[in-house]
Amino acid sequence: MRALCWNGTNDLRVERVPDPVLVNPHDVIVKVSLSSVCGSDLHLLGGYVPTMQPGDIIGHEFLGEIVEKGPEVRYLNRGDRIVTVSIIGCGHCGHCQHGDSSLCDNSNPKPEAARAAYGHCGAGIFGYSHAFGGYAGSHAEYVRVPYADFNGFRVPEGITDEQAVFVSDAVPTGYMAADMAGIKPGDVVAVWGCGGVGQMAMRSAYLLGAERVIGIDRFPDRLRAAQMKAGAEPLDYTRVDVFDALQSMTGGRGPDVCIDAVGMEADSGANALEDLYDRAKQAVGLQSDRPAVLRQMIEACRKGGTLSIVGVYGGVIDKFPMGAAMNKGLTFRMGQQNGQRYAERLFGHIVKGELDPSYLMTHRWSLDDGPKGYRMFKDKADDCLRVVFAPHA
Ligand SMILES: [Zn+2]
Ligand SMILES: [Zn+2]
Repeated sequence: MRALCWNGTNDLRVERVPDPVLVNPHDVIVKVSLSSVCGSDLHLLGGYVPTMQPGDIIGHEFLGEIVEKGPEVRYLNRGDRIVTVSIIGCGHCGHCQHGDSSLCDNSNPKPEAARAAYGHCGAGIFGYSHAFGGYAGSHAEYVRVPYADFNGFRVPEGITDEQAVFVSDAVPTGYMAADMAGIKPGDVVAVWGCGGVGQMAMRSAYLLGAERVIGIDRFPDRLRAAQMKAGAEPLDYTRVDVFDALQSMTGGRGPDVCIDAVGMEADSGANALEDLYDRAKQAVGLQSDRPAVLRQMIEACRKGGTLSIVGVYGGVIDKFPMGAAMNKGLTFRMGQQNGQRYAERLFGHIVKGELDPSYLMTHRWSLDDGPKGYRMFKDKADDCLRVVFAPHA
């Protein structure tokens, strides 16, 4: 089959690779109909995620049809149209049973690297390096889905492919960001990053009772989409001082909830010296992640407020304002998404018309255009929010 393979920093190629086969009795093989790029893939492209190997198939947000199933798959059947959660759970361990499937004890068959780096190992992720299990990704004609009954969700009638594909990752990640922040009616929520996940966090914040949502970015088309589609008040961080703007929008209190939908490649936009410092430290390996958004959130959040982090971080950061966080009594919530907990609820919101993620798909291309698609997505060219590949089109 054809697949989009990582071959080094900023080096993607469409290659011929062997078709996936059933490995375990709980596996299914999915014929991929749509597979979306994701902002966290850019960290792979940039070489910021260690343990990638040349030839690894990337992609983790996908929808398709089951063409083969193992003997222990009970609920799903051949021919089912399913969306698969990008973070793999086993469904049986304590974490999975409590809805924290991204912390699964069993789905990462290569736990050594994560244990060495983090103390414990989390779940496996499709197409996201060998530290996260070494699973082949979804930018391919076919993909193997382990623990299929737990990770695959039959898409209800009335939900289009273009809506359903984002229930794999962008929608549950954004929804979880809002959910774990404990938003209360009347809250003001500020979201850093107006990409797919950020925009889904904004919509979700309203669904969970927020009164005002502020979206922060620097790309005009993304700010416009955040305003028009997600109902956010846009803030361009290169044009205003984010702290001052957020204080004046909230009567000097600061937002109740601050959501990070940016992650490890953040820039402050305003403070050139800070950005230079962070980039230099990252370039020589003295920190792996750039914390400009975390610093802004800690400074801007109201006293006693909550920071909710779904932007991806990989390692260590420098100049982290712990004193401000402690003395302001901030609560930190964070994590990879537990989409298995949310998928059915999100289908419900989509069916009722309360949430429509399909507008994230600004470009629908053939898999052969994979390298070009990622270049465009990375450069945020042509008002690109998400490129979605159709491997069989
Ligand atoms: Zn993702
Ligand atoms: Zn588990």
